[in-house]
Amino acid sequence: MAQIKAAVCHEFGWPLTVETVNLRTPIAGEVEVRLDAVAICHSDISYADGAWGGSLPAVYGHEAAGRITALGPNAQGLNIGDPVVVTLIRACGTCPSCSAGAPVICETGYDGDHGPLTMPDGSKLHQAMACGAFAEKVVVDQSQVVTIPETMSMEAASLLACGVITGVGAVVNAAKLRAGQDVVVIGAGGVGLNAIQGARIAGARRIVAVDMSPEKLQMARGFGATDGVLATGDTPWRDAKAAMGRGADAVLVTVGVAKAYDQAPQYLARGGKVIMVGMPATGAASTYEAGNFAAVGQSMIGSKMGDVVIKRDIPWMVDLYQQGRLKLDELISGRWSLDQINEAIADTKTGQAGRNVIVFR
Ligand SMILES: [Zn+2]
Ligand SMILES: [Zn+2]
Repeated sequence: MAQIKAAVCHEFGWPLTVETVNLRTPIAGEVEVRLDAVAICHSDISYADGAWGGSLPAVYGHEAAGRITALGPNAQGLNIGDPVVVTLIRACGTCPSCSAGAPVICETGYDGDHGPLTMPDGSKLHQAMACGAFAEKVVVDQSQVVTIPETMSMEAASLLACGVITGVGAVVNAAKLRAGQDVVVIGAGGVGLNAIQGARIAGARRIVAVDMSPEKLQMARGFGATDGVLATGDTPWRDAKAAMGRGADAVLVTVGVAKAYDQAPQYLARGGKVIMVGMPATGAASTYEAGNFAAVGQSMIGSKMGDVVIKRDIPWMVDLYQQGRLKLDELISGRWSLDQINEAIADTKTGQAGRNVIVFR
């Protein structure tokens, strides 16, 4: 049992409190990782604000990188001292989804109320998203980590745990984009910028960014957008179609806004697909003219975490980063200490595109 500093949520919508909590030693199949960096994702904020419910008190944080400091029995292929990316993708390896090569939708549940974290008096402390990485250390299942090169920046590596794999994966794995196809990305935020650079890497012809903010559209161009459309008008799809000269083969909705889902099919070419990535608050609904999908062969596909297989996809993304073909450092907008986490969250809520990263050393 170790005592670590963690940012704890005691009540939805209230500031997190940085305090000392208990972290038990890793058991079979688990690893302990001392974190160097953890990025703040909008999912952490949605949870902390209560948008998706969940157990309290809780420790959020799920985009992390650090070094392995302890190994439980049967942790295979990992060594103490290894630098790793720590993700929330906990996969049993044997359920129907894992067996079908879809570990992001592993069917074996995880009970974060009885994970490695407890309060100092021994009472329950929920390990949110099987991770709990707003903390100096985590204990996670070995399926959740991927080793990275010694030369990799830990701050950049932390981004590979969620936003980058979700955006790039949505294009490469979910949309299965072919070179020369046309793409619309709705939302040029943390996931959207990565969908844009995923489309560039996949060889898209036109990549149209759609956002409410001219500044974000400008940033999107730096990640590979060929065109930008302000979504403030009534019919932004008309401008997008004008830029492409046709409808889109893939429309990636990267924001959790029901209106964006309402509008998404309007951007499509015949045969095109909407890839649903952003997650609106629980209970939010969208409506569509159902007949259109069959009439012109369109579809809508949900993609969790970019349908990623982390031990396959993170290593190639690391290589592209090291070649200068995948931008990570450019995604970081601020660096903060764990004690500054509420300021960092407030800054993220201002809606700017970049990622705030908590650094531990
Ligand atoms: Zn995330
Ligand atoms: Zn599974």
